[in-house]
Amino acid sequence: RSWPVVFDTAVGSRLTDVDGNSYLDFFAGAGALNYGHNPPALKKPLIEYLTRDGITHGLDMHTRAKEEFLETFRDLVLEPRGLDYKVQFPGPTGANSVESALKLARKITGREAIINFTNAFHGMTLGALSVTGNSMKRDGAGVPLVHATPMPYDNYFDGTVSDFMWLEKLLQDSGSGLNASAAVIVETVQGEGGINPARVEWLQGLAELCRRNDILLIVDDVQMGVGRTGPFFSFEIAGIEPDIVCLSKSIGGYGLPMALTLMKPEHDQWGPGEHNGTFRGNNPAFVTATAALREFWSDDTLERSTIAKGERVEGVFTELAAASRVLTPKGRGLARGLSFSQPELAAKTCAAAFERGLLMETSGPSDEVMKVMPALTITDDELTEGLEIVKESVRAVMEGVSAE
Ligand code: PMP
Repeated sequence: RSWPVVFDTAVGSRLTDVDGNSYLDFFAGAGALNYGHNPPALKKPLIEYLTRDGITHGLDMHTRAKEEFLETFRDLVLEPRGLDYKVQFPGPTGANSVESALKLARKITGREAIINFTNAFHGMTLGALSVTGNSMKRDGAGVPLVHATPMPYDNYFDGTVSDFMWLEKLLQDSGSGLNASAAVIVETVQGEGGINPARVEWLQGLAELCRRNDILLIVDDVQMGVGRTGPFFSFEIAGIEPDIVCLSKSIGGYGLPMALTLMKPEHDQWGPGEHNGTFRGNNPAFVTATAALREFWSDDTLERSTIAKGERVEGVFTELAAASRVLTPKGRGLARGLSFSQPELAAKTCAAAFERGLLMETSGPSDEVMKVMPALTITDDELTEGLEIVKESVRAVMEGVSAE
């Protein structure tokens, strides 16, 4: 375990362990705690709901909590953005959403093949693993992972190859051997794959390529959605409208399991009960999800502050990189990474930060990226404090290397 302590309580961006030590959180539940730990505006309605014996387990029953969530999601998220999606509750996890998206795309098109991207991460169930890049995770499947063809993600060749050269060629060439594809699945910023942001032009090019070739576009916004990069949906900056969108992690708002699969109305071709699951109706999560939308998404305050805070992190990372040729800053919004040319130094830096009371994780195929994902609600002072620890930790590790 990289954090060998027993945590007990948490408020906002601070956790406390059983010995009373305090830790600043630059991890935010791997993106499930975009509003921090136990946010008061969500805790109060949750406690009230439990106290009045509101339905907790609802399967796919109609409940008031579900109705309020769906109406609030329509009014505060979909309609203001001019988006028309039907909402499915596919099961409580991100992987559940990805599985439902893949199944639906295959059902709609009658095709089996899916196009995915290098360094993608979509979850640990077999379908989601089949479109995930990481070889260690894939090896865990224990069966062949089939029906997916990986293509180079944006910047895979460090900008030396024009966008979609390989994919376009395969799609055009009837001799290429590429099976007719149901869908492309993509993250706008690859979180687990190393905090790799796709450029806006690349995302637009991909949407256009899908349209021209009659392939559905699935955006997996499980980690980068719900404001992580600024806007509610991470694809908004590209002005694209995916056919299917996967959401989970912070949609419940309080760290309670919840996931959504959004689909264009004409694509809702599910039969009754065709994709079911016992924990699709986690009503306390609907209550906190509704409260979160009302608290944070009635205007663009959070979006603007996330972008501003992200720029502060970027500024510090750029400074650190300028002082050392072995570091590369990456990311968008408050999903930020610092890539180390010697991969093991990323984990060492996270360990040095932990000693100084800061929680951070690594990501990337070789765990070479130090990943900074604070709660979007982190205060400016907390962000400053954490960034100071990051600077100290990076310097301590780099000095250790030059002394060796
Ligand atoms: N998609 C993406 C982009 C993710 O980052 C993750 C989780 N890290 C998942 C899917 C899987 O979500 P879960 O762990 O809830 O199954």
